[in-house]
Amino acid sequence: MEAEKIIRIAIDGPSGSGKSTLARNLAQALGFVYIDTGSLYRAIGLTASRNGVPLDAPEGVCPLLADLNLEMRLENGGSAVYLAGKRLGDEIRTPLVSQYTSQVSKLPEVRAFLLKTQREIAEKNNVVMDGRDIGTVVLPDAQLKIFLCASPEQRAMRRYEELLAKGEHMTKAQVLAELSWRDENDQKRELSPAKPAPDAVFLDNSGLFPEETLSAALELVRERLHLSPV
Ligand code: C5P
Repeated sequence: MEAEKIIRIAIDGPSGSGKSTLARNLAQALGFVYIDTGSLYRAIGLTASRNGVPLDAPEGVCPLLADLNLEMRLENGGSAVYLAGKRLGDEIRTPLVSQYTSQVSKLPEVRAFLLKTQREIAEKNNVVMDGRDIGTVVLPDAQLKIFLCASPEQRAMRRYEELLAKGEHMTKAQVLAELSWRDENDQKRELSPAKPAPDAVFLDNSGLFPEETLSAALELVRERLHLSPV
């Protein structure tokens, strides 16, 4: 595929806003590859937690990066993260790993380590990439940037149901507190803070079903990129 024909769609937004659901559905509708950049950061959060790095001194993970065998492989229209050859699953989605991930994500060493992987994938494939800094830092030239948001209560409710389905027991209040802590931590960091790109389109999906959010995004794709679902 010629470089100039590659289409990149960036989806950023706070935790639990439904980015991954929208990005996956949109990629599927368009025949693009879905890239979940959070899973790369989560692999490093997991490494920190497994190696006893203190949560309040995340820089302890930096010396481990040089020997980290971390790969993102494209599989079934999406991406999977492998650590030391092992495919990562739900172990990167626990509340503790989420907290570690937000902490290690502040480190310049970690962000630099992952930037190349993310950009390389988007150089060769039509992508829908979701994260926190995709429109601002990773793919500033993305042809469409969506900033997905929803009310804090709705985001906490979605995350609560997700965790419950995986057998994690937390109260709704605990989930809301964890989510708020993580959002603030991600928004206030110095490097690549989680914020909308100036040219991002805001999409508030409070009260919307995933299909309705997808329809709204497809409308933007039609208007701005003149593309239709495959
Ligand atoms: O998207 P997800 O909730 O899986 O991301 C987990 C954490 O990874 C976020 O809270 C954030 O700290 C970090 N992250 C980031 N930049 C990205 C994607 C995720 O800093 N592009």
